[in-house]
Amino acid sequence: MNKKYDYLIVGSGLFGATFAHLATRRGKRCLVIDRRPHLGGNIRCECVEGINVHLYGAHIFHTDNREVWEFVNAITEFNRYTNCPVANYKGRLYNLPFNMNTFCQMWGPLTPAEARGKIEEQRREAVEALGGRAPQNLEEQALTLVGNDIYRTLIQEYTEKQWGRRCTDLPAFIIRRLPVRFVFDNNYFNDRYQGIPVGGYNRLVEGLLAGSDCRTGVDFFHSDYRDWRRHADRLVYTGPLDEYFGFRLGRLDWRTVSFRTRVEETPNYQGNAVVNYTSHDVPYTRVIEHKHFECFGPEVDACPRTVVSEEYPAEYKPGMEPYYPVNDERNNALADAYRALAAREQGVLFGGRLAEYRYYDMAPVVEKVLALFAAPAGEESVFAAEESLFAAGEGPVPPAGEGQ
Ligand code: FAD
Ligand code: UDP
Repeated sequence: MNKKYDYLIVGSGLFGATFAHLATRRGKRCLVIDRRPHLGGNIRCECVEGINVHLYGAHIFHTDNREVWEFVNAITEFNRYTNCPVANYKGRLYNLPFNMNTFCQMWGPLTPAEARGKIEEQRREAVEALGGRAPQNLEEQALTLVGNDIYRTLIQEYTEKQWGRRCTDLPAFIIRRLPVRFVFDNNYFNDRYQGIPVGGYNRLVEGLLAGSDCRTGVDFFHSDYRDWRRHADRLVYTGPLDEYFGFRLGRLDWRTVSFRTRVEETPNYQGNAVVNYTSHDVPYTRVIEHKHFECFGPEVDACPRTVVSEEYPAEYKPGMEPYYPVNDERNNALADAYRALAAREQGVLFGGRLAEYRYYDMAPVVEKVLALFAAPAGEESVFAAEESLFAAGEGPVPPAGEGQ
């Protein structure tokens, strides 16, 4: 039977939208559905007081991959925003990531050589305790990376708030992302390219979804689209991995965040887009002042008000938004078991943060979709190994209460 669409894409986040864009460019017909009332997934912005508010937390695009950077800039222009978060620990401010500014604020003025010596002294005990083996958890990783003072002031309590778990129970890789530098450089990322879309992320989403049919407020599992083969040849699923299989092997854990957003009657509330609160005394982890993503210099005062959001991390419960996969041993093993089921699903591609249960940033999501569409040498307009992307299997499981 001739279907109306080549692809039904569940989820209009960056994975689904990038997929839709590349498929449409190749002449495929896409229908994108999302259960939220809007398109864009976690990169959705809402304009308040003329300021683009990042509805699902601060999103800073950063990458070392030129192809990815050129791809997104061809959709919409990006500005020169550079993320330089500041940490507030019990009323004292420190620059992040860990660099010469942080070391001066922590221990008083130092040269780079002296700072190295200080860090070595701070790390020594933890390095000796490891006896040559690799760090097994986040605490060991942090102590051997930056030592005791920085760990206690800027990492331990923040991380325990963020993840709701002790640092000894968290994987080391979470902290490996943070740079340690012996130069006065507050740029949070080492990547060559960084910025925010001029006019906000909705422009990126609109550009990516131009040419696709889109429906919001439609839940795949509670709609006619569950029987997707009636509508499309292939399914691209970017929702939670365990939900697709009706949680039949058990539920994956997630961390979620709630955002308390308010308008402040001042043009400049905290002087920076991101301020982290690294002590247990404050219940939220970060305060985001959204205007600083897009207003620079005198533009900051041009708007008399400002919008700020506090971020409160929480354990995910059904009905909340799943944000961060919890990559501990239990969840990694369970995710592997679900991935084995996913690999057998006929005509279905599982992609993105939720469906792969991976702690992806935006750029790796775009990179992944670009790679899916990369043409083999000499065959420019052909999907690379398209058949092998969409594997064999049984179809989605009906949600609980609807019979299986
Ligand atoms: P999502 O954006 O989550 O999109 C998935 C979509 O699927 C959602 O819209 C959802 O409603 C929809 N969906 C799910 N199930 C169904 C269903 N059954 N039916 C219909 N629709 C469904 N990355 C960075 O690079 N820089 C940052 O600064 C950054 N900050 C972040 C801050 C926070 C608080 C979070 C949570 C993430 C951050 N990220 C950041 C990561 C970034 O959000 C992700 O990499 C990106 O959103 C992944 O896109 P996605 O399409 O996989 O998922
Ligand atoms: N982190 C920390 N102190 C900070 C900022 C980050 O200890 O002030 C740790 C924390 O464990 C966090 C990890 O670094 O989970 C990664 O933080 P990042 O801000 O890069 O990630 P995001 O929360 O934005 O995904």
